[in-house]
Amino acid sequence: MLKNEYDIVVVGAGPAGSMAARYASEQGVSVLILEKDRDVGYPVRCGEAISKEGVEEFIEPNNKFIASTIDKFSMISPDGTEVIIPLEQVGYVLERRIFDYELAKTAANAGAEILTRAYVNGLLMEGNKVTGVKYEYQGEQKEVKAKVVIGADGVESRVGRWAGIKTYIDFRDMECCVQITAGNIPVDQNTCYFYFGEDYAPQGYFWIFPKGNSAANIGLGVSGMIGRKRSAQSFLNNFMAKNYPNASLLTQIAGGVPSAVTLSQISAPGILLAGDAARQVNPLSGGGIASGMIGGKIAGKIAGEAVLTNNPSHLLTYDKIWRDRLGKRHETFDRIKEGIYNFSDNKFNSIAHSFFKIPFENRSLGNLFKTALFHNPSLLIDVAKVFVVR
Ligand SMILES: Cc1cc2nc3c(=O)[nH]c(=O)nc-3n(C[C@H](O)[C@H](O)[C@H](O)COP(=O)(O)OP(=O)(O)OC[C@H]3O[C@@H](n4cnc5c(N)ncnc54)[C@H](O)[C@@H]3O)c2cc1C
Repeated sequence: MLKNEYDIVVVGAGPAGSMAARYASEQGVSVLILEKDRDVGYPVRCGEAISKEGVEEFIEPNNKFIASTIDKFSMISPDGTEVIIPLEQVGYVLERRIFDYELAKTAANAGAEILTRAYVNGLLMEGNKVTGVKYEYQGEQKEVKAKVVIGADGVESRVGRWAGIKTYIDFRDMECCVQITAGNIPVDQNTCYFYFGEDYAPQGYFWIFPKGNSAANIGLGVSGMIGRKRSAQSFLNNFMAKNYPNASLLTQIAGGVPSAVTLSQISAPGILLAGDAARQVNPLSGGGIASGMIGGKIAGKIAGEAVLTNNPSHLLTYDKIWRDRLGKRHETFDRIKEGIYNFSDNKFNSIAHSFFKIPFENRSLGNLFKTALFHNPSLLIDVAKVFVVR
C-alpha cells in the first residue's frame, strides 16, 4: 500500500535510479521509485556494452543478463585497416531488459517500493526546496511528499529543470544515435567493432556489438552538429546496404547521448540528480550505464545519510564526491573527445597503420595509444593541444 510520504522518492528505474534507491534503502530509510514505463528495463535504448568492472561493483555477472563476453576490440579505419586489440580485462554486451530488471530487484530486496506506469509530471516545492513530486497513475493525478527527491529520469530529464537547475547541454555535445539489433550478422561473438571516419560516423563512431547467436547491436552516434546536416539513420542505412543487405532487423531505436561534462550543479535543496539526468556519461565513449550506477550509488548513500542525520545540507556534498570519483576524469575525456572530433580520415588511417605494425601479443589499449602518439607527432601535438587549450 503506497504511502503519502517517503524519506526518498526516486524518479526513473534505470540503472542510476535503481542504484540510488538500493543504496538509500540499505540504510533503512523509506524509498519509492516511480517509473513511467510499464516494464522496468524496456524499451532498451542502448548499445549495452560495459566493462566487467562496471558490472561487478553492483551485481554478480550472470549469464541471464550477459549476451556476450568481449575479449577483443577491433578498430577499423576509414581505408578499411583493421587493428585487433586484446583486452586486459573482459567486457560484456548485456541484455539490458533483464539487467535493468535485476538491478531494480536489488533495490526492491533492499526495501525500496517500485511503481511502474507512474509518470512524474511536476515537483512539490516549498520556496526553493523540493518537497515531493506530482505524478499520474492509472488516469489519476497524485502527489507524494519526500525529504529528498532523486531525479534519475534519463537523458530527457525534466526533474532538474523543474527544480531550477540549469540542465542545458550544447547541441554539439548531444550525440545523435541510431541502432538496430539485427540477426544473421556473422561477426566474431567476442569482439566489439568500432569504425571511424567521415563515411561511418563523423564526430563520433560506428559500432557493432555482438549479442550471441549471430545477433548484434549495430549503430552509431554523430555529434549534434553533424546530425543537423545529415541524419544518423542515413549512415546506418548505407552501412547495412553495403555490408549486411540480408540482415533481419529485430529492433530499431534512436536516442541522444549527452557526451559532455557533468552538469555544473547536480544537487539543490531537497534534490539530487543522477545518471544521464546529471550528464554523468563518459563523454569519450558515450557509455553511461556504469557511470550512471556509480552516480546513483553516491546519490542514494548521501540522500540516506542526510535523512538519517536530519541534515538537509549534507545533500550539497554530492557534487564534490561525484567530481572526485569520476567527474574530473570525465573532464579529461571530454578534452580528448574534442581532439578526436577534429581528426581527418587521413589521421585515423595513419594511426591504424602504426597500430597495425605492433605484434598482436604486445597490443593493449594503453600501449597502442602511446605508440600512436610516438608514430604520429602531429597526433601528439593535437592531444597536447586539447590538454593545454581550455
Ligand atoms: C543508442 C544508444 C546507445 C548506447 N550505448 C551504450 C553502451 O553501449 N554502453 C553504455 O554504457 N551506455 C550506452 N548508452 C547510454 C546509456 O544507455 C545511458 O547512459 C544509461 O541508460 C543511463 O542510465 P540512467 O538510469 O541515467 O537513465 P535511463 O536508463 O534512461 O533510465 C531513466 C528512466 O527514467 C524513466 N523516466 C523518464 N522520465 C520519467 C518521468 N517523468 N516519470 C517517471 N519515470 C521517468 C525512464 O522511463 C527510464 O526508465 C547508449 C545510449 C544510446 C541512446
